[in-house]
Amino acid sequence: MTSFSNDPLPTVPSLQFVDGSKTFRPGRIICIGRNYADHALEMGADPVREPPFFFTKQLNAIVALGQHEDDPCPINYPPLTKSLHHEVELVVAIGRTGICRSPAEALHFISGYAVGIDLTRRDMQDVAKSLRRPWDFSKSFEGAAPIGLLNPADQAPASNAAISLHVNGEARQIGRIDQMIWSMGEIMTELSTYQTLASGDLIFTGTPAGVGPVSVGDTIVATIEGLHPLVVTFVQSS
Ligand code: MN
Repeated sequence: MTSFSNDPLPTVPSLQFVDGSKTFRPGRIICIGRNYADHALEMGADPVREPPFFFTKQLNAIVALGQHEDDPCPINYPPLTKSLHHEVELVVAIGRTGICRSPAEALHFISGYAVGIDLTRRDMQDVAKSLRRPWDFSKSFEGAAPIGLLNPADQAPASNAAISLHVNGEARQIGRIDQMIWSMGEIMTELSTYQTLASGDLIFTGTPAGVGPVSVGDTIVATIEGLHPLVVTFVQSS
């Protein structure tokens, strides 16, 4: 029998489908930055001159579930930030390993769709940017990637589905997913030029304008028309 030098690995939560029939085993979290022109502009970028780009989060960022406003999923407010920003995003769950050669092939790889929030330690990111350092630790931390229930691949949101995020009932982000600069299929094709898509990939497809900070005690309701809403609340870490 093999003797390991380290303890068993931490458990990564599985994602549940809306009908309870299946679960999804997460493998990697891949995110796209500045995929909505109005958000690129609010970040001080020029969406015409600068195409979207990729970054990643580690698996310990995943928080699964949290679908009911009266029973929100608690998330510890992370350390080392005073400006934790919300970014509501459509998350595509990849069910097969392979190279997506064209947007027409994309559906072949998709296992499901969910609402996610790309939580960002914006102040930490701003410092890293100003020092021209990597900013992955501003995007990747425990609780940085809450993800709601998955719709199966044959229940995709409409191509022009509304996407929104409310904090304590106040509208912060309102858009439509057809405002993406790169469509879902284009993202998967572009990503496949960098590396092979893999079963377990969770692709965060970008956020519309209106990102902003949340505080301990705040409740976020994140929605995409046709998908189950994602509701989280922020608590002081013990
Ligand atoms: Mn994002």
